[in-house]
Amino acid sequence: MTRLCLTLTRDTLKANLEDLRTYAPDMAELRLDLLSPAEQRKAVSLPSQSSVPLILTCRRREDGGAWTGSALEREKLLWELMEGGFAFVDLEEGEDSPLLAARAREQGLKILRSLHDFEGVPVNLDERLRNMARKGDLVKAALMCRGSADLLRIFETAAAWKENPPSGSPQLILLGMGPFGIPSRILAGKMGLYLTFCSPEGVEAAPGHLDINTLRSLYRAGELDRESKVFGIIGNPVLHSRSPEIHNPGFLRLGMNGVYLPFSVDDLPSFFKMAELLDIQGFSVTVPYKEEIRSFLTEESRDVRAIGACNTVLKGEGKSWQGFNTDIQGFLEPLKQILKEEASQENAPDGEPGLKNMKAALIGAGGAARAVAAALVKSGCALTIFNRNAHRAKALAEQFSCLWAPLDELVQNPKDPFDLVVQSTSCGMKPGEDPVPGYDFSGRELLYDIIYSPPETRLMERARAAGCRVLGGLPMLHAQGQAQFEGFARLYRKSAGFDKAKGAS
Ligand code: NAP
Repeated sequence: MTRLCLTLTRDTLKANLEDLRTYAPDMAELRLDLLSPAEQRKAVSLPSQSSVPLILTCRRREDGGAWTGSALEREKLLWELMEGGFAFVDLEEGEDSPLLAARAREQGLKILRSLHDFEGVPVNLDERLRNMARKGDLVKAALMCRGSADLLRIFETAAAWKENPPSGSPQLILLGMGPFGIPSRILAGKMGLYLTFCSPEGVEAAPGHLDINTLRSLYRAGELDRESKVFGIIGNPVLHSRSPEIHNPGFLRLGMNGVYLPFSVDDLPSFFKMAELLDIQGFSVTVPYKEEIRSFLTEESRDVRAIGACNTVLKGEGKSWQGFNTDIQGFLEPLKQILKEEASQENAPDGEPGLKNMKAALIGAGGAARAVAAALVKSGCALTIFNRNAHRAKALAEQFSCLWAPLDELVQNPKDPFDLVVQSTSCGMKPGEDPVPGYDFSGRELLYDIIYSPPETRLMERARAAGCRVLGGLPMLHAQGQAQFEGFARLYRKSAGFDKAKGAS
């Protein structure tokens, strides 16, 4: 378990108190340097109005703060406020102020020694932290993560500290700044760290700070402990992914002590070392790693081999990693569902919904199109692939033994219209975009646009207006996520022991 420490960033005490009431954190850090000068001295009364322990911080500009006064003024202010009942005072690594340290002891405050590096993770980090531990009760480092290797160093340092703590076992706070550092903010409890800092909603107090509601509700960061099982999604970029919103509520529903989080990855070998250190059980894979990941796998499913891409990795025995692809299943499930519903309305006989021999057009020949083509050919459709870059359409069609044509040849044949049109390009994500503006729907087609953001594309609007049945990309996203989730939950049960999954069914 760790503490969620809210950084109080408002310029008035009233607004900061309001944040304390609204967010009810476990702890809070008052940033004196962000308070308006007229309010700074009045902050002495804040601890008496707060029900949680407070850290008193006046961050200098060179350490990433906003303090513009002199060093003497800062010392005087901290000296005065220390009598207010704060739990900690934050002093920088190199700040040699015997007077402040003595005053803190006298007033019963603990000293938090902190180190900030906006350039990267220092090579001698462990040594510096151990030196800081001699001058403080709590040691903190906030370090810019320039890539996966820096994040790995942070996790390795936290693990080494736990394995071989300095004398007195001072507590540690270790945070990676920037997008690559985000897992360190979520996994503080898993790493046995004292707290993780967070911001009020709509504020980013430091690069990569998550807001408290996201940390608490989506990632349940305050509840994670050493036993928590880690799952995630790797990619670059990946922070926009909606997958945590699919998997974390599922983990909660099953009573799993687990978390699913995004890992921005720029180097797969570093990620795999991290996966071993954190005992990551499984992860989703997104752009640009769906193909490159294959060289790290011990086993691949038939679908991975058919599509040539992997979107799900599960931990196997020992150090093995098994690759799967849930896109085929994710694509087919909503399509079959809609065909089944239509068939039952028409009182058609039961059986496999009628994809067999359907005349289908696939627009696009990118990564997602491979799963779509594999699914449609496997289901017996008569498929033609249309793509802007005709060479890619040809290559994909050759792989799946179907027809192909350049995109501008996709026209409606009034005598023999398509039964199914699948749109798999990224054209449509922006307002008004349409990959085939010249294509007039006959009204007979089922349009399946796999774009999920926005949920309704221009092409979908046009198809609807022509009287077509229309399916968007969100059900596919959920169905492929559901297939991944089942794999993750199965692995969790195996690794944590079924009886530990409280309320699991
Ligand atoms: P990708 O590998 O980059 O492929 C992009 C495809 O879009 C290519 O065929 C490309 O044609 C085509 N394209 C791009 N701009 C175009 C334009 N202006 N006009 C016509 N064609 C254009 O991307 P991807 O991974 O396949 O993803 C494509 C879309 O599918 C994205 O919107 C993604 O979010 C969505 N998707 C949804 C799900 C889901 O679960 N619903 C799953 C996966 C992907 P060229 O070859 O000519 O460049």
